[in-house]
Amino acid sequence: MLILNCPYCGVDADETELAPGGEAHLKRETVGSSDEAFEAYLFDRANPKGVHFERWRHAYGCGKWFLAARDTVTLEVFGTYSAQTIEPPKAVIDAIKKKKPDWEGLA
Ligand SMILES: [Zn+2]
Repeated sequence: MLILNCPYCGVDADETELAPGGEAHLKRETVGSSDEAFEAYLFDRANPKGVHFERWRHAYGCGKWFLAARDTVTLEVFGTYSAQTIEPPKAVIDAIKKKKPDWEGLA
């Protein structure tokens, strides 16, 4: 079972308390971007086998959105952090690289 620590209320919430929100750290296309770039923003997702950054909502807890880094194969969680964070915190990146030295970073 997937268990994520909510960075706001500190609860270790299992997946029945959480609502998934898709891939994190997507760069939103703005006015002036091409149709192809906007289409990619709307529909293209990485869906990796391995390290993935995701949005989650503590739906049956504090109700707030947060971000998580986890391995999609093993369900190992490398860290959770505020949804207002533009890039993954150094502590999360370090935790990933410690377990997966060949990881190439965010695409
Ligand atoms: Zn919470």
